[in-house]
Amino acid sequence: MGANHAPRDNRAGKRGGVTSVLPRDRIEPLQGFGGAETVAGYVFRPSNVSGIREAFVAARAYGVPVALRGAGKSYGDAAYLREAVTLDLTRLNRVLDWNPDTGVLTVEPGVTIRQAWQTTVGDGWLPPVVSGTMYSTIGGALAMNIHGKNHYKHGTLGENTLSFDLLLPGGDHLTCTPSNENRDLFYAAIGGFGVLGVFTTIRLQMMSVQSGLMRVRQFAARNLTELFAVTDREIAGGSDYTVGWLDPFASGTNVGRGLVQTASFLPEGHDPAPAQTLRADRQDLGDTALGVPKSVLWQLLKPWVNDAGMRVLSALRYRLGAATSGKAGTDTWAGANFLLDYVPHWQNAYGSGGLMQYQTQIPATAAPEAVAEQLRLCHAHRLFPYLSVFKRHRADPFLMSYSVDGYSLALDFKVTSANRDRLWNLAGELDAVTIAAGGRFYFAKDATLHPSRIQAFLGEARVQTFREIKRRVDPQNLLQTDLYRRIFG
Ligand SMILES: Cc1cc2nc3c(=O)[nH]c(=O)nc-3n(C[C@H](O)[C@H](O)[C@H](O)COP(=O)(O)OP(=O)(O)OC[C@H]3O[C@@H](n4cnc5c(N)ncnc54)[C@H](O)[C@@H]3O)c2cc1C
Repeated sequence: MGANHAPRDNRAGKRGGVTSVLPRDRIEPLQGFGGAETVAGYVFRPSNVSGIREAFVAARAYGVPVALRGAGKSYGDAAYLREAVTLDLTRLNRVLDWNPDTGVLTVEPGVTIRQAWQTTVGDGWLPPVVSGTMYSTIGGALAMNIHGKNHYKHGTLGENTLSFDLLLPGGDHLTCTPSNENRDLFYAAIGGFGVLGVFTTIRLQMMSVQSGLMRVRQFAARNLTELFAVTDREIAGGSDYTVGWLDPFASGTNVGRGLVQTASFLPEGHDPAPAQTLRADRQDLGDTALGVPKSVLWQLLKPWVNDAGMRVLSALRYRLGAATSGKAGTDTWAGANFLLDYVPHWQNAYGSGGLMQYQTQIPATAAPEAVAEQLRLCHAHRLFPYLSVFKRHRADPFLMSYSVDGYSLALDFKVTSANRDRLWNLAGELDAVTIAAGGRFYFAKDATLHPSRIQAFLGEARVQTFREIKRRVDPQNLLQTDLYRRIFG
């Protein structure tokens, strides 16, 4: 830690869960979900709004900025700040109000997506937008404006948010809605990656459902052209959730081959026991698979997480999927949505260097060519992503939106000391393809974007407006993250 940040007095009294100085016992290692970088920071865990205010006061007194953090599920450097204060908001985790008549859920920001659906599912309501993990907090998810496998249908989390209370670094506490006098803050703080203020209360509109079961199918696509075609066909056919998986090692005429997974709620009257399928305990994923505790599965996966192992597993996965292409089955809503929670701590299988996810969104007309070029670049550099996910998206009205009417490709690369520089160079080349295609970048996944790219993708006017709002609500620039510093300087 910087010498001028050293604590003066470790005996300072505690109020509202934080101390008025920066004590050494607050220093902790911090990582993003990908674990490709570890930094040290002073971590405070307030349990109420007064605790957040006190942490702001303490940070100001020491002249250090503050980063906000939810569950730390962003892959890169979005939720920490080295050698400064990081406010972990997971203890603000109370459900404040649930109205089963209107489907309006009011929560503190540290409530997780899992807590949210567990609160509402028994009354026939579910969150309209969830990420691939249920362990993100609602505050962190709103700051990134997450999307789900139904982005093309239900938009982002922000589009399903009625209002929120935002605590500004200067102490003002504002209610923001899409139509009140704080409208500009509503559209800037959602997706504003935690540098404009702290969401302290969030009101969400849940989605009414008649069943907790889904009809699921997966379809094989023999190459990239088919991957686009099958995805479009299933969405046009009414699929509620659609996601593609690509075999990253497929080459030649098979480049882009993969599986498109679809899930749709059972139509009304088709679930013989909705009161049972809508029980929270029936939705949860369970702790064992074939009698083995799921918590150890990542260790079985680890020996395979290299080029040779993943080449074999990917080919096997494709062949198994192709053999059952089009066959219908049923799954729970949670089972169909939280695919990445089946193997807890799977990211550990990537080893000590962690993983880097590269995700971009590309407009529909340019996407087939741009995605093909990005896959070609990975092959040319012999850098293969071990997980590749493909989704359909739509545009949204938020200031710092990462969304376009188009497709996204998310690529998970294993990071080692030997390939790190090559990976970051590859990301630069992939960025160039994205920008040339009029695409955008998603800060929840980013670890590599260069500041020179920011105006190219958001446009000068948007970046200027964001900077003006930042100056207005946080004139001392108290709220920062490593991501913010890296990209906004
Ligand atoms: C396995 C996995 C699957 C995922 N799948 C998807 C997906 O399908 N779709 C998708 O969109 N994303 C997905 N994500 C990304 C993830 O949903 C986002 O990164 C989300 O922001 C994580 O929430 P969090 O609580 O962990 O927030 P963190 O990562 O801790 O923080 C995210 C941002 O929120 C800010 N922040 C946190 N709390 C507050 C607050 N109270 N007020 C203001 N700002 C705050 C932080 O400063 C930071 O900038 C996935 C992540 C993982 C690990």
